[in-house]
Amino acid sequence: MPYNLPATRLLMNRLRQVMAEEGETRSRLDKVVRLIASTMVADVCSIYLRLQDGALLLIATEGLKADAVAATRLTVNEGLVGLVARRAEPMAIQDAPRHASFSYRPETGEDPFHAFLGVPILRGGRVIGVLTVQNRTERAYDDEEIDNLQTIAMVLAEIVDRIDPDALNNGGNEKRERNTASLTGRVFCEGLGYGRAVLHDPVVPAAKFFAADQVMESHRLSDGMAELKASIDRMMALDGAALGEDPRDVMETYRLLAHDPSWAEKLQEGVKSGLSAEASVDRARREHRARLQSARDPYLRERLHDLEDLDNRLLRILGGEEGKPQISEERSVLVARRLGPAELLEYSNTGLRAILMEEAAASSHAAIVARALGIPALGGIPGLTTRIDQGDWVIVDAEEGTLHIRPDDTLYDAYKGRVSLRSERQAAYEALKDLPARTTDGTDVSLMLNAGLDLDMEMMKQAGADGVGLFRTEFQFLVSESLPKLNDQIDLYKRVLDKAEGKPVVFRTVDLGGDKVLPALNLQREENPALGWRSIRFALDHKGLFRRQLRALVRAAGDRPLTIMFPMVTVVSEFEEARDLLLAEVEWSAQRTGRRPSQVEVGVMLETPALAYGLPELAGKAEFLSVGTNDLMQFFFAADRMTPHVSDRYDLVSPSALRFLKEVSDSCKTYGIRMSACGEATGSTLSALCFVALGFTALSMSAGSIGPVKQMIRSLNLQAFRPDFLAALNAPEQDFRNQVLALAADHGIELSDG
Ligand code: PEP
Ligand code: MG
Repeated sequence: MPYNLPATRLLMNRLRQVMAEEGETRSRLDKVVRLIASTMVADVCSIYLRLQDGALLLIATEGLKADAVAATRLTVNEGLVGLVARRAEPMAIQDAPRHASFSYRPETGEDPFHAFLGVPILRGGRVIGVLTVQNRTERAYDDEEIDNLQTIAMVLAEIVDRIDPDALNNGGNEKRERNTASLTGRVFCEGLGYGRAVLHDPVVPAAKFFAADQVMESHRLSDGMAELKASIDRMMALDGAALGEDPRDVMETYRLLAHDPSWAEKLQEGVKSGLSAEASVDRARREHRARLQSARDPYLRERLHDLEDLDNRLLRILGGEEGKPQISEERSVLVARRLGPAELLEYSNTGLRAILMEEAAASSHAAIVARALGIPALGGIPGLTTRIDQGDWVIVDAEEGTLHIRPDDTLYDAYKGRVSLRSERQAAYEALKDLPARTTDGTDVSLMLNAGLDLDMEMMKQAGADGVGLFRTEFQFLVSESLPKLNDQIDLYKRVLDKAEGKPVVFRTVDLGGDKVLPALNLQREENPALGWRSIRFALDHKGLFRRQLRALVRAAGDRPLTIMFPMVTVVSEFEEARDLLLAEVEWSAQRTGRRPSQVEVGVMLETPALAYGLPELAGKAEFLSVGTNDLMQFFFAADRMTPHVSDRYDLVSPSALRFLKEVSDSCKTYGIRMSACGEATGSTLSALCFVALGFTALSMSAGSIGPVKQMIRSLNLQAFRPDFLAALNAPEQDFRNQVLALAADHGIELSDG
């Protein structure tokens, strides 16, 4: 059946009408199957709905016995229908009864039908049902018929997803309000939030499924695709100019995919069959997602991810401004499958109440940005985007790590109760704001802020931080379309120093690569990005970019003190090379402007185990080091911080990690290197306690952690606790974390996590 046959378009229009009709679900579904059967010239058309237990229930049929409706159930391991659901792809079979998976159900009266075509009904990458057509005679369905039925299934997905199977027998209506669902996730940024879901990936509303004018729609699609290709070409050209690198890999793959004629053809075919340009892209996206769900091969998964990214880009282009996620001033909760740090930053001033991410690990940079923005965030929630619809109300409890979709009154009351509890706790921290973080026996610990945006500087004051212990300068690079200009960099650093009002600020030079991928320039795809060409390695190999940043820092300081540290230093020579570049910039600037910073302090981040054994050589060269636990622990335990399955597997509060950190601390004392720590672990009161017990007197963390950590320190008698802690480290029990927790309780130390 060719696509441009009027019958297909007519069917789309009729389906649209039926969808809009009022009335009982069952009679509407009967009309739908009758329409499909006649358009497809089939003897049978049936719809199966996937139930919560995974079984498939026949909910409408034309051609099979009416009594089977709401009675015939198949497991996913049963019959051809089960097979379609399991594989999440279409199946066309010439003689179904002879197929190994055929399962005969007498109540359906299926005997006379030989040819079978089944397609999955997909929503958000999830199989929510199966649509089938059958014919009496043996016959082969052609590709166009298969595509056609898939398109119909896409349209059906919107109605099928709202059906309440229990209501089918008593002629009930669609379930307009779907049930409350509660899911658990990992806390990325503590807090509570309530609002309407806004999906980060473009959504095509059912009202926009069909095109009024097919020719115009086809032009819109072609224009959109041309714009997509041009934007990719522009990015590649920019990359080449900025870096002088051969821009292959990621963008090249994108380009190849975007130029792939079969993708374009498929999208155009969708439009020819009556879909709008958006709906046609959405159809392709559903297929890619469904295949992604079942694909195991990492290469194939990557390609399918690329394809889905392209689908999303194209949808954004087609949707224009209107297609952008609309964050309402009032209350919105952002819901995303994957979110890069730069994408999240784009939402930074929109008044989001909470963020939910399907993927990502707690030490990923998107999670760090969420903390920097102070927005409650949960991540690691598989299936999230298929469970929430645009506009659903959501409660995000990023204290307990739960979220409630479409909450009922009881849940909402419980949420309000927690909000008031939280404000009581916040008030207690607020009361400590101007008091020192001093142990009961008189050791002062300096509590600093991890920052990366100038809006964080407000937080420094609000949280009562002693300064900024880590300013992640790469965030400015991540949000820019092109590399930030010298003057833009100077402006940002000046604003940060001005707002610090004389309190110390440790600027960390650009830490790009790994998961911090620049939109403006494109790093080559690597097998192991965390171990790859990143951070100081990348900076030292891109001296133009690096020196421009050092110059900006020196110029921004003017005659104020300047403190700089270099990330991911592995061998001392890397530190020396970077420091020499900095000192050269200081001299150059002094000659040109007659001004130089009143003091220049240079330090390193300790993020690789190798550097821990380079401290004797670092002595006398670096003034300080800051332990970056996020990277250090991923290398120490050989566990990728970005892979949720392993990123939480190993515990910093364990004898091996803490003994290692003790060696670092002892070496720093021996070689006269000032030390601090600034990874995400410092924000946990239990880990912070361990750091202090190991001799650290400066910790840098997110704003929200300063209150709880200060409270912990003010309850700690260090001289009494340390010997017991070190003894435990020498004679650890099997559950060391609990051993330390018990010890803390014995010493009356106030922990707010653990
Ligand atoms: C770290 O690795 O601990 C760190 C602070 O740096 P980032 O998280 O930015 O890699
Ligand atoms: Mg790091």
